[in-house]
Amino acid sequence: MNGTRTVAFQTLGCKLNQFETDALATRFRDSGYAIVEPTDEADCYIINTCTVTNKGDRKSRNAINRTIRIRDENPLPAGRNRLIVVTGCYVESAWDALKTDTRVVAVPNDKKQGIFELVEARLNGELIGPNELPRGVFDYGVQSQLFHTRAMIKIQDGCDNFCSFCIIPAVRGRATSRPVVDILQELRTLVDRGFREIVLTGVNISRYSDSHTGFSELVEQMLAQPGDFRLRISSLEPDSIDDRFIALFDHPKMAPHLHLCLQSGSERILLQMRRQYTAKEYRRITDALLSRYPDFNLTTDCIVGFPGESDEDFQATCDLIRQVGFSHVHTFPYSRRRGTRAERMPGQIAEAVKKERAKRIRELGYEGKLAYRQRMAGKQQRALIEKVENGVAYGYTENYVPVAVAVEDDSNATDLQNRFLDVRLEPFDTPHTINLDSDLRMTARVSNQVPTPAS
Ligand code: SF4
Repeated sequence: MNGTRTVAFQTLGCKLNQFETDALATRFRDSGYAIVEPTDEADCYIINTCTVTNKGDRKSRNAINRTIRIRDENPLPAGRNRLIVVTGCYVESAWDALKTDTRVVAVPNDKKQGIFELVEARLNGELIGPNELPRGVFDYGVQSQLFHTRAMIKIQDGCDNFCSFCIIPAVRGRATSRPVVDILQELRTLVDRGFREIVLTGVNISRYSDSHTGFSELVEQMLAQPGDFRLRISSLEPDSIDDRFIALFDHPKMAPHLHLCLQSGSERILLQMRRQYTAKEYRRITDALLSRYPDFNLTTDCIVGFPGESDEDFQATCDLIRQVGFSHVHTFPYSRRRGTRAERMPGQIAEAVKKERAKRIRELGYEGKLAYRQRMAGKQQRALIEKVENGVAYGYTENYVPVAVAVEDDSNATDLQNRFLDVRLEPFDTPHTINLDSDLRMTARVSNQVPTPAS
């Protein structure tokens, strides 16, 4: 094959999938491939799928069918073909159909990290299959400064909780943690490469455990590493949060923001969901965080319309959301997953009711976001600038507040990218129209443009 090889990626689902795609894309790019759009002609298309909801299944199937169509409409000369590799959680749940589908190569989750070797071999005419790839869920290369200002480190995979609505333990396997030494090494490499924000990711990271190191100890060791960076925890289950974890946020490198999964505010429904905490315990954690750190930013996930959810159960969720004051609530109407306990539960809720409840939660989430932004007006924050466009620098502060900062001189735009700016958040005008999807970006004024030296 002549010229530069091309590869296109599509990612569905969670941040962990996004991390894995980014890591694969880095590997292809560093090996000389050009990354093109999924609608372009490419030598290879890689689709990293999701199965967390029925919608995830549908979107994954559509992405695969669409890509097959694109490939078939752009044939190569006889004897050569464009390769379509599908991987991710939908591949696990639809394995029987996909493994025999000759139009694609299906790669299981635990062999995803070997896709580069598989593609190289196939494009060179060697017919190796996924069976010949080694197993491993942490053997991704270190991210380069390619896709995002934030770099993710995968510290954990799989889950042992078996919540009654969730298919993840079946498609990602049992919980497994990456060795501490590897994580610290990757952190140092990322900081040396210039990343200023590191995000910890995995399926259920609060259950991290390697030898005698638990999650809080791992984070303490990461915070002790030198360099001018901050650490953000992505999504967390509330079941193993203790005082030691809460005290981690005293550290100046720790971003005061948590996406703490709630799912329901009703004790009865939490029990039915087989969640490992009560609503009362959840409140104890959020109260502890907010009393110690009043500006702490809490966001969450919530499932509405779980089987048997009564009006009172739903009201309990609304009450808890209002009391905590989340700045963002990601809502899912419950969707029946094949192979889960909840699939067989009585009291399945009508779609119209789920839709109405989801709308109510989204409105509450918007009110919480607006209130949080208003509370943050006048505060000093440290924004990490992601891009500069038309004299405005865009980024996120340590509390995960999206900001827009006017910059006088566009010529130093590239200098500002991936730099910390100390800013003061401007008073927030209440929008005239409600846009539930708006991130309500705040304007901010630079209070000190000189980046702080490495600590
Ligand atoms: S904690 Fe529950 S919802 Fe989260 S991945 Fe594990 S089983 Fe699924």
